[in-house]
Amino acid sequence: MPKYANVIIDISAGKLDRPFTYRIPEYLKGSLHTGSLVEVPFGAGGKTRAGYIVGFSDHADYPDEKIKDILDIRTKGSDSTGDKSVRLAAWMKERYGSTMTSALKAVITSRGQVKPVTTKEVRLLIDAESAGEKLAVYNRKHQVARARLLESLMEVPVQPYSLICEKLHISAPVLRAMKEAGVIGIETTSSLRNPVTVEDAGSDSNVLSPQQRKIVDGVIADLTGNSDVRVSLIHGITGSGKTQVYISIIEEAVRLGKQAIMLIPEIALTYQTLLRFYRHFGERVSVMNSSLSEGEKSDQWERARRGEIDVIIGPRSALFTPFNNIGVIVIDEEHESSYKNESMPKYHARDIAVKIAEMHGGVVVLGSATPSMESYYRALHGQYRLYELTERLTGGTLPKVCIADMKAELRNGNRTIFSKKLQEMIEDRLEKKEQVMLFLNRRGYSGFVSCRSCGHVIKCPHCDISLSLHTGSRLVCHYCGYEQRMVSLCPECGSRYISGFRAGTEQIEQSLAAIYPKAAILRMDADTTRKKGSYEKILSSFANEEADILLGTQMIVKGHDFPKVTLVGILLADMSLHAGDYRAAERTFALLTQAAGRAGRAMLPGDVVIQTYEPENYAIRHAAAQDYRGFYEEEIVYRNLLRYPPAYHLLAVQVTSQNEEHAQLAAGRIRELADARIRGIVPAPFIAIGPAKAGIAKLRDDYRYVVYIKSDKYDTLIGCKDDVESYAAQLQDTPSGGDVRVQFDFDPMSGW
Ligand code: ADP
Ligand code: ZN
Ligand code: ZN
Repeated sequence: MPKYANVIIDISAGKLDRPFTYRIPEYLKGSLHTGSLVEVPFGAGGKTRAGYIVGFSDHADYPDEKIKDILDIRTKGSDSTGDKSVRLAAWMKERYGSTMTSALKAVITSRGQVKPVTTKEVRLLIDAESAGEKLAVYNRKHQVARARLLESLMEVPVQPYSLICEKLHISAPVLRAMKEAGVIGIETTSSLRNPVTVEDAGSDSNVLSPQQRKIVDGVIADLTGNSDVRVSLIHGITGSGKTQVYISIIEEAVRLGKQAIMLIPEIALTYQTLLRFYRHFGERVSVMNSSLSEGEKSDQWERARRGEIDVIIGPRSALFTPFNNIGVIVIDEEHESSYKNESMPKYHARDIAVKIAEMHGGVVVLGSATPSMESYYRALHGQYRLYELTERLTGGTLPKVCIADMKAELRNGNRTIFSKKLQEMIEDRLEKKEQVMLFLNRRGYSGFVSCRSCGHVIKCPHCDISLSLHTGSRLVCHYCGYEQRMVSLCPECGSRYISGFRAGTEQIEQSLAAIYPKAAILRMDADTTRKKGSYEKILSSFANEEADILLGTQMIVKGHDFPKVTLVGILLADMSLHAGDYRAAERTFALLTQAAGRAGRAMLPGDVVIQTYEPENYAIRHAAAQDYRGFYEEEIVYRNLLRYPPAYHLLAVQVTSQNEEHAQLAAGRIRELADARIRGIVPAPFIAIGPAKAGIAKLRDDYRYVVYIKSDKYDTLIGCKDDVESYAAQLQDTPSGGDVRVQFDFDPMSGW
């Protein structure tokens, strides 16, 4: 064992972002690894700090008596993956611009001691015959939730309690009642063991279609051969068999002795999908989600480290699972913005997946019904392989989509928020006892209050954000939580004509109730889901057919399958077109396509009505026609012309300070630094824009400025980032810059 360890101290100050040398005490020799989290004395007072080991040496540049001892280790257990993690962190620091500490924190998964955790599971206690009889009773009494649970347990008889509550949408009272009736047992076990046991593995063995077979064979050939292209993109609508392909690829990889990471946006991970994975991989699969505690997360990671699992399913952070031989990383719904980390380092899971696969000699598989512009562009340019799945395997037809032109509705005297077509169809569904989903597209919009006399908009005094009107006449800032009472007179001109723009979910719920007094309506938005568990409660009650109409924001669009839904109405489809960033059309297209896909998932045919003021807009036209390629072709022209990703790379340098002048000065200087780099080079390797006030010019009393730099080469932007980093480090020592903070966002996913 070497004498010294190099340790990065866990302090956010940029200046301390370098390794410090510590002596390894006798009793820790042999138990420290690269990536270990340790405790060390630091600073003048010798305060105890946490730090990460990034390397070892036998020599130190300082006299031995000046070097302090490592005090203790926080993580136990061997970690052969630590080296890779530290290398990955170093790569992220360079590529995204952040401190080494932040990068290490994102990457290194061992945070504390591993304690055995308890898991609660639900077990079917009756035999198949009695279960069948019971099911008939439940169905007769229309006890939908009980029937749903029983059916699922008849397939897989022991299942995690949390899964059943969160993903199958079964409430605790239902579980209690079934327990008291002796149908199920609820047990608590304490172990590292996976909470699921599966009796008959492989019962779900579909024969792959020729299209599917071709993908699986192609990806496995890439994995086992020495091909240059190691990323594949599967473009296929929902129900076209993508998940089946992922499972088959992962099976092959596991057979080759490798591990697999499967990323799914948490909100899109359905119960059915999870069961399919459990059926194939049994105890060798584990699920990560945000409701797990830190302890439960390290528990999963510890199992991966010990080689007890082969497959992990989870959101972005599951990427960093400490497997030692990763064969494949799958990213489902790869266009989703939740794959972008929005705090430093601002990385995209797709790029990290490619890097990790490269380190392990593995492959990456991306899948989506509406691929990101990036991935499709790369696939068309030969960097990724492109595969198409063109048939829906679920039976059921694609929904019929029609566009309602709301300008025409107004001309014809319809002043409500519902088009005539939509009203007729809602009525029809209510009569047939089928269900309706109404999706209010309010991305980038809040129910602001404005004066019709002078145009004044009421804004938060701390953030440059318009306040939203809530019931009870409260005005609320959705960023910092600031509240004030609604005003009766315009504070600018004194006019009485000040009011909210009537397009919030609450108002729509009220007008719905007025038109359809007999309909049961559920509303799902930021307000009704604030309490823990309420999101699940609304979904389960809709799944149990306790309501006819589910009205909500984009949170209702993803993942959930409701077989009785045969009509989807999209209100204000164009709202998200005006979110003010270059991805607005792409996001709108994906949202509308996804929302439309909610109708007619089972055997009943479905209809979709898209209400819009811009029926001729290309994002809306192509979404209505469900034509991805058509959308891509038009969008890429715009990206090329204006030099936006994926045609170019874009770096947003974000500058904040409580002092507006300081922020402005620093941003101006950053622009000059960029210009200095270009000077004399022909053709110029990039263009700098700004500085400008950020889209949100003030947030929580911070003034925000942004400088954009565009280049066709990512490396050129890294050079610019390095310049800005050294400038920011110098700034720390000056009176006019000590409070200025700089962040980097490469190829940003959202406006700032
Ligand atoms: P996606 O992930 O694209 O939505 P899935 O893999 O979930 O598609 O497939 C949709 C449905 O079709 C599922 O019910 C699945 O069991 C079924 N399915 C998939 N592949 C096949 C196949 N080769 N043969 C029969 N059914 C299949
Ligand atoms: Zn006014
Ligand atoms: Zn605010």
